[in-house]
Amino acid sequence: MPPNERCPNCHALVADWHVEWYKTEGLTLYQGRAAMDCPLCRRPVGFQGGRIGPAPAGTPLMRQNAEQAAQWASSQAISAGGSLQGYTTAAGAGIQYASYWAPQEVGQADANQRAKLGRP
Ligand SMILES: [Zn+2]
Repeated sequence: MPPNERCPNCHALVADWHVEWYKTEGLTLYQGRAAMDCPLCRRPVGFQGGRIGPAPAGTPLMRQNAEQAAQWASSQAISAGGSLQGYTTAAGAGIQYASYWAPQEVGQADANQRAKLGRP
């Protein structure tokens, strides 16, 4: 997904759409058969012909998965402490997802990820 693309609904510049945070729906998103939601306005965003745009009517709306995001953060957000909580509160692309999940949901996903990795 191209970074720094504007949301077709709220027109905010989204630094990173984090398609890797979806579970198996990633492929259907790229094929334009599912819509993702904007982290800021939560309205459906489509992806067609390599570009972000309005979601075609009737496409199912996918939601990013906190567990998947926490797993990503454990290896990709090292400077933010390797946690989803750290990433979504640090300045940069992550802060746009600060209110995407409830704080308990983020905390639980981080805890599950730490347990999986055998970290304290
Ligand atoms: Zn938006």
